[in-house]
Amino acid sequence: MEDKYVFIHGEKWAYSDIEEDIEWAKTNHWSRQLWKSESAVLDHEHCQICWWTFYCTDKEEHGTAFKNEEGNTWVCTECYERFISIET
Ligand SMILES: [Zn+2]
Repeated sequence: MEDKYVFIHGEKWAYSDIEEDIEWAKTNHWSRQLWKSESAVLDHEHCQICWWTFYCTDKEEHGTAFKNEEGNTWVCTECYERFISIET
């Protein structure tokens, strides 16, 4: 089977490498919010799918993300809009 490639934030990803995370993410409910640290030792976090970095900033692409209901996982707006919010 030929691999499908996608570009996320300009980075090339094999779809098969992120497919499992996307399928999992589709089973969660996400809400858009400003990323903020919930721990004194944590100053950034990564997108569950593409490892994009979030931190406290006014820059929307790094400062705004989607958080799941359990509140322990974040995905970037690009991954959310392209892979998760699409109804299948
Ligand atoms: Zn992402």
